[in-house]
Amino acid sequence: MSKTNDKISGPVISNMEMMGHEQVVFCNDKETGLRAIIAIHDTTLGPALGGTRMWSYSNEENAIEDVLRLSRGMTYKAAISGLKLGGGKAVIIGNSSTEKTEELMKKFGNFVDSLGGKYITAEDVGMNTKDMEYVRTQTKHVTGIPESMGGSGDPSPVTAFGVYMGMKASAKFKWGSDDLSSKKVLVQGAGNVGENLVKHLTEEGAIVLINDINEQKLNEVSSKYGAEIVRGDGIYDMDMDIYAPCALGATLNSDTISRLKCDIIAGAANNQLLDENINGEEIKKKGIIYAPDFLINAGGLINVYSEINGYDREKSLSQTREIYNTTLQILKKAELEDITTHKAALEIAKQRISDNK
Ligand code: NAD
Repeated sequence: MSKTNDKISGPVISNMEMMGHEQVVFCNDKETGLRAIIAIHDTTLGPALGGTRMWSYSNEENAIEDVLRLSRGMTYKAAISGLKLGGGKAVIIGNSSTEKTEELMKKFGNFVDSLGGKYITAEDVGMNTKDMEYVRTQTKHVTGIPESMGGSGDPSPVTAFGVYMGMKASAKFKWGSDDLSSKKVLVQGAGNVGENLVKHLTEEGAIVLINDINEQKLNEVSSKYGAEIVRGDGIYDMDMDIYAPCALGATLNSDTISRLKCDIIAGAANNQLLDENINGEEIKKKGIIYAPDFLINAGGLINVYSEINGYDREKSLSQTREIYNTTLQILKKAELEDITTHKAALEIAKQRISDNK
């Protein structure tokens, strides 16, 4: 599952030490078949919030690697977004289509509850709002419950809005204007976030191209917004102004970067850089502006955070709008210090944490 550049192997506590984790909880329940790991990376800024992922990991080591890496990422995403939250994540080992039951989710809720609010869960891959409702029966430390239950519902529209803000800020930095009309934007992945991004872009008059492996999605989004469909691996060689990865991680690697002809990369996918250092440098050398993924895709996190203190959509959107200013600040810092934008964002996030220690 994970695309990582810090390969994890060996004893768990040594890896926790290396990556700065506070606590890792292994959960096992014979009756429901639950096998889960909850990782709490850093709670300096607040409780560790992060979704629960259910995935058929090929071995336990992969599950540990995923949860350690993802929980650390949440710490930096919350910090860069100015949220009073730490970073955490949970993984349930198993097939979400065939092994997930109401009892299993409730048992998982018990384990979350046993942490007394130090970890707050939410949806991730393999989960839906119904599962969060089951977790909610056992613990109050869960977000992303349906709007009908007073929750914040689907975070994707807010995530897309944040990506759009990050993209406009990148345009302002690169071209001196954030006007995206007539700019050619390739949105890779026309899913929940991608479709909402296409909506913002077409409303502004951008020329939108869409790519997806799901033909039905492609046709739906194309006929709704008039976006042009592009297929195949050749997308990386196309002429475009902006590449917006909104499908999978690791699409920015030495091969694709050498082929990309865009001015800006700004999208929703997590962990877009296959190798944060090598690929970040390659992008910088080509003069492409890269809006760090964990900064501009934080709208969803901002949205679930708002749920903790009584959901307020307007507040979430105005906080997400701030991604514009933060992106500009980071792009300027990277230019001034001659470092990659990813590194610049990471430095600010780490500084926020150490300022609060
Ligand atoms: P989604 O599953 O709704 O959409 C993903 C789309 O990508 C699907 O339509 C899928 O068919 C397509 N896809 C998969 N593999 C592809 C490939 N190889 N080439 C082209 N298209 C491909 O997911 P989403 O909620 O829209 O999230 C998109 C990305 O943004 C994910 O990487 C997710 O981790 C990240 N993200 C999402 C949120 C959120 O609020 N949903 C928040 C932060 C980050």
